[in-house]
Amino acid sequence: MERFLYAKHIGLKRRVRRLGVIMLVLLAVVTLRLIQLQIIFGDTYRTLSDGNRFRLLRLDAPRGLILDRDGEVLADNRSAFTLTAIPREIENPEATLERLDRLVALEPERLDTAANRLSTLRHSSTNMAMHLSIKEDMPFYEIARVEEAMTDLPGIVIASRPVRRYAYGDLAGTVLGYLGEVDMTELNRFGDRGYTLGSLIGKTGIEAVCEEYLRGVDGGLYVEVHSVGKPQLETYFREGRREQSWVDSLGRRLRTEKRRDPVPGDNVYLTIDKHIQKLCEKALAGAAGAVVVMDADTGELLGLASRPTYDPNIFVGTGNASEVTRVLNDPKHPLLNRAFQATYAPGSVLKPIVAIAALERGAIDPETQLTCYGSYDLGRIFRCWNRNGHGTISLVDALAYSCDVFFYQVGDRVGHRAITTYCGMFGLGQPTGLELGGERRGLVPTVEWKRRHFGEGWYRGDTANLSIGQGAILVTPLQMATVYAALVNGGRLLRPHLVHRVVSEDGEPVLQPETEVVSVLDVRQETLRIVTAGLRKGVEKATYPTGTGYRARVKGADVIGKTGTAQVVTQKRDEIEDEELESTPYELRDHAWFVAAVTGKQPRIVVCVFVEHGGHGGEVAAPIAGNLIRGIYQGEVGAQPEVMATAEIDNAGAEG
Ligand SMILES: [Zn+2]
Repeated sequence: MERFLYAKHIGLKRRVRRLGVIMLVLLAVVTLRLIQLQIIFGDTYRTLSDGNRFRLLRLDAPRGLILDRDGEVLADNRSAFTLTAIPREIENPEATLERLDRLVALEPERLDTAANRLSTLRHSSTNMAMHLSIKEDMPFYEIARVEEAMTDLPGIVIASRPVRRYAYGDLAGTVLGYLGEVDMTELNRFGDRGYTLGSLIGKTGIEAVCEEYLRGVDGGLYVEVHSVGKPQLETYFREGRREQSWVDSLGRRLRTEKRRDPVPGDNVYLTIDKHIQKLCEKALAGAAGAVVVMDADTGELLGLASRPTYDPNIFVGTGNASEVTRVLNDPKHPLLNRAFQATYAPGSVLKPIVAIAALERGAIDPETQLTCYGSYDLGRIFRCWNRNGHGTISLVDALAYSCDVFFYQVGDRVGHRAITTYCGMFGLGQPTGLELGGERRGLVPTVEWKRRHFGEGWYRGDTANLSIGQGAILVTPLQMATVYAALVNGGRLLRPHLVHRVVSEDGEPVLQPETEVVSVLDVRQETLRIVTAGLRKGVEKATYPTGTGYRARVKGADVIGKTGTAQVVTQKRDEIEDEELESTPYELRDHAWFVAAVTGKQPRIVVCVFVEHGGHGGEVAAPIAGNLIRGIYQGEVGAQPEVMATAEIDNAGAEG
């Protein structure tokens, strides 16, 4: 008897222990679920007494707006009808999808993804509010077709969801970026912030950079569920207005409770001026290239254009697959922003830095006279763009007429180490720090770099090339804009930026980035004055001859600037040296540069124009810059371009 009791006691103990473990596991599950629900719903779960009779459904938060500096809306939301599945409510995924495919014709790829996700998510308890979108942005006739069949489609809901809209199509496309569904990597990283499979997330541009502000907080509501029938969102018309209410498959009106409205994302105001951005993009019409317009005192980007570009609206919804494929495979890479995600040889727009290095190191002074006979012999002949030679000139004229031979000699005197040091000081070879991702740092070739990559030493010819911005040196148009801003703002290297301010939906300031000075350059003001005098003479109306940048001249504005014509493939180019631009294959044509600054007006701005394979900077890029400046200060400067005397055009620099 005692033994029996003892045995019974042991058995009981064991059972109690086992029960305890089960209880603990259950408690853990419940706790986890509670934590989960509280992330979405705060404390509402606790007060919901008969939770098992209700289903939690997600309400998407409208994404914050993206606006220009003056509040012009660039990206907002429209409401679109999305065919949505609630995985937990679907009993037979195959049959349901087959039925839907017959009603609205789903793309095969889409169908496969939906089938896979439905079968994995159906039994998952990780997210009760999970919605799986099957087809976005449905046309009205498809909605009607699905709604008619709704009672046979348990777990399928037509939800009105906010959908991104880019108000001006491709305007600032590569700046704004686009949205896409979260991938597994993003889900692992941000899963704790309320993202679930199917959530949208910024993939590129401002959409990606400002994701945390733009996103907002999804809401939700509990919908009553009877033991028979599943909740359906029923759409009906009342007094001409489309309204929705929840019913079950037997048509019974369902109660909704604990509705928590979604919190819209914050609004992001860009430094971009829509009017200027438009001018920049129009200026590049038909060409490939980039235009940067920057406030020279704050680093605010008023325009950041790149061509070709794309319309981010094509990434919204599922109906543009062919257009998306075309854009992704376009050999001209429209997704690339050429202002900062591509690098090019600067050509003569680098000369101001070479001049500064030489002046600061005492290799030349403003009075130094050097002679150009049209070429310079370094064992190999280095030519000036002007085969007749510029004669004996000083630095100001060498900048104005962009004399190559003058700069070969300057390079020889000051040495490549000084030039690369000053290139580095001006931020070349480093990212500018722009908010957007994928910025290229460019390349400032050094002795060490050359040895590492080519296994050979540095030659005088390398210095000659570097002195006119050719050879291995690579820069981005955005870097050149920051260099020229420093020339006119007293030597402050600024971080260019695009976010002007972030404001919550109810108008509270969230973020206000300030002007960021990366460094104050160790350059004398007198040096900056001499170099800018050369750049002024390059543009202004001189007696004879005119500078290479005269086509950027704007009546009534103090414009300084520098042309650049960057050779693409030096060796191949030599063979077709004297041929016309039209007969040169596109990919071998020179890149055209013009970097200008307007100093006499407020705000003081820098305009960097880069035309990929455009030809001569003076002929192609300078007039674009001039037209832009006229457009930007319209009303303040002469609206009509100056008519040039024919003789002046003939004798003006063709370089750049
Ligand atoms: Zn010359």
